[in-house]
Amino acid sequence: MNKFYFTNAIAYANAGPHMGHALELVQGDCLTRYARSQGKDVQFLIGMDEHGTKMHKKAQERGISPQELADENAQLFRDIAKTLGLAHDIFIRTTDDLHKRGARKLWKMIDEAGKFYEKEYEGLYCSGCEAFLLEKDLIESLCPHHKSPPEELKEKNIFFKLSDYGDEIRRLVESDELLILPSSRKKEFLSFLREGLKDVSFSRPKSVLPWGIEVPSHEDQVMYVWCDALSNYLTALGYADDDPKVAYFWPADVHLIGKDIVRFHAAYWPAMLMAARLPLPKAIYVHGFVTSNGHKMSKSLGNVVSPNELLKDYGQDALRYYLLREIPSDDDGDFSYDRFEILYKDELQNTIGNLIRRVLSMNKKYLNGVALKGEDFDEAIDMAWGEYHEKMQNFQIRQALESMIELAREGNSYVEINKPWLLAKKEDKKRLEEVLGSLISVCRAIGEMLRPVIPLAAEKILNQVASEEIILGDPLFPPLLERE
Ligand SMILES: [Zn+2]
Repeated sequence: MNKFYFTNAIAYANAGPHMGHALELVQGDCLTRYARSQGKDVQFLIGMDEHGTKMHKKAQERGISPQELADENAQLFRDIAKTLGLAHDIFIRTTDDLHKRGARKLWKMIDEAGKFYEKEYEGLYCSGCEAFLLEKDLIESLCPHHKSPPEELKEKNIFFKLSDYGDEIRRLVESDELLILPSSRKKEFLSFLREGLKDVSFSRPKSVLPWGIEVPSHEDQVMYVWCDALSNYLTALGYADDDPKVAYFWPADVHLIGKDIVRFHAAYWPAMLMAARLPLPKAIYVHGFVTSNGHKMSKSLGNVVSPNELLKDYGQDALRYYLLREIPSDDDGDFSYDRFEILYKDELQNTIGNLIRRVLSMNKKYLNGVALKGEDFDEAIDMAWGEYHEKMQNFQIRQALESMIELAREGNSYVEINKPWLLAKKEDKKRLEEVLGSLISVCRAIGEMLRPVIPLAAEKILNQVASEEIILGDPLFPPLLERE
């Protein structure tokens, strides 16, 4: 099968994009661009999760409708997708009619399988988490994530028989039939499973929460926001209308998500699909969080870094490179302006930019800009590609880029060792052609490896070292703005 269906988690629409969103968007874009370069037929989904209590409350506070709030924030996400240079295929919103009809259809399938039942429920609900919490989850009577007391709720809900699926999910995850990367997250999830899966409330009374998708044949209930949101991966393909895209692209090859929502994607979602007799996703990639100077970003600490400001001041290449090269794709990472500048200067300007510039100008000067071929680097390039592919396929973007930057460093030392300017002086034309030709091959490989990472700069590199004629353009990585 050549198809590759890759989804990002859809963003909750109660606020605009922050650094964590930028990270996930760029990771997804990089991995799908890479898959396309390998000849895959890619569908890359991003989008918005727009229902639920938090949306309802936030809109009330602002005195606007939840739909207006959703529209406003969806636009901010569309904007950042553009400035980050994303090449997504789908932008799904859970208030889209296509999604709502699809979510209701999936609900009916689960209902027909007998996996829903009604129950009076009494429990502690955290609207920050959009989840019921157990007494043992609380720390000093507060939600450990939101540091706020959960509400006591008593209401009639429709429950999903999640408990029926614990053993099967464990088998799937242990055997990697449902692959969870990195393995540390798989272990964590398996230990969560050992506590046993309990049935979960999948609806809320409309009287309490008017903002959601109505449950089929229980019009007084709306769907639990996670049931609604998870369905998007399927509904976006046109599940409501039996679009042929569903048969072709489903199941998803990769769901890319943050570490705080693993249980929803690895337990709830596969269970829902099994209940509806639908094929299961193949892999879940879990990324970490971005801290700021070693601390969690928070308004009260005043250390929130805005991706939009970085994009405005430094452009997409600089921010994309930082997020993919500095933050481990499979773990937490840190943002600091110091590291941002160091990485930009050391790797983009002084290693890659410098190599490309030197090679192109020497080529222009000594060989009239005709790009020749040389073989000195063939082995090193093959090796770098081997490592690069292996890492990219294992959700280790940062390590894949290590092979790329290593190759660029080798290119720079090769210039120092072979001194093309002396070869030109000695009129050793044969050796000069071979040396510069070999360097051109290195530059081309670097351009190709950078293509999924910083597509704008990569395109410039590849155009400049095109086989016909060398072009000397503006600097690839201009000096950074001085910061006040
Ligand atoms: Zn909470």
